[in-house]
Amino acid sequence: MNFYVMTLFPDMIEQGLNTSIIGRAMEKELLSIKAVNIRDYTLDKHKRVDDYPYGGGAGMLMAVEPVVRTYQAIREDIAAKTGSTERPRVVYVTPWGRPFHQEMAREFAREENLVFLCGHYEGIDERALEEVATDFVSIGDYVLTGGELPAMVMIDAISRLIPGVLNNKDSAEYESFAGNLLEHPQYTRPEEYNGKKVPEVLLSGHHAKIEAWKKEQSLLRTQKYRPDLLEQ
Ligand code: SAM
Repeated sequence: MNFYVMTLFPDMIEQGLNTSIIGRAMEKELLSIKAVNIRDYTLDKHKRVDDYPYGGGAGMLMAVEPVVRTYQAIREDIAAKTGSTERPRVVYVTPWGRPFHQEMAREFAREENLVFLCGHYEGIDERALEEVATDFVSIGDYVLTGGELPAMVMIDAISRLIPGVLNNKDSAEYESFAGNLLEHPQYTRPEEYNGKKVPEVLLSGHHAKIEAWKKEQSLLRTQKYRPDLLEQ
């Protein structure tokens, strides 16, 4: 899978994603992540990418042309790499988008190419969004300074669903949000810490009982922390 990130801060994306599991997946060529600097595509001689909003209002807006030209360069790159001239999905990360969730991550993981558009300042000229964006997605009801962290969050969540990225193929199937349940409590050595013992059932070696315990604990945890998931 090929990720592209349209951003004013490519270093942030590259440095943020090239370690640990995602870094190894890139080495194994299971995925690639290319951060493309929108500033490289401005025609302004001072390399400006922002301007004042029409009608007034606080702050600056990213202008339409550099964004559209960056998108065109990415489409050319995709065509050269894969031969595909289809429009890729372009996710504008924005606080007013649909809330990101695990099922959405699964859906995006099926794409061959996926593009993220990161806003900055007060956002982006609406016409740029009309030209390039296909999806509008938020990571939560709060406002960040830029779209780089949301894009990284989504790329991380999507990447670990790509076959081969996690060593254990079961890992993604049995964790939180699978089947709308949260993950059960987990324990590793020592067997006792500060008077707290690992639940006996986990030491019993009785597979069916262990599974029943995990299911029950998942339900209890979901009921306590996310009852809305059970309603779904
Ligand atoms: N004025 C915008 C508004 O009220 O919706 C907020 C702009 S924010 C300061 C700058 C950029 O950060 C946005 O264009 C978006 O790309 C990104 N951003 C901020 N919060 C976000 C969130 N919760 N989810 C996704 N992206 C976010």
